[in-house]
Amino acid sequence: MTKVEKAEIRNTELKVWCEHCSIRISPNEEQVVVRGKTYHVRCHLKLHTPAKPKS
Ligand SMILES: [Zn+2]
Repeated sequence: MTKVEKAEIRNTELKVWCEHCSIRISPNEEQVVVRGKTYHVRCHLKLHTPAKPKS
């Protein structure tokens, strides 16, 4: 018999997917909510940071 150590799954009601990249945001990841939509902090930064600033 193999005892499989399962990762503890909880807070299922708090599962959140990023509106930008559609990847689930882990409970231990930083997230930001803007107008009721949740993003990874890094995705939110991308949305609000010019891709290539001039000069
Ligand atoms: Zn994201």
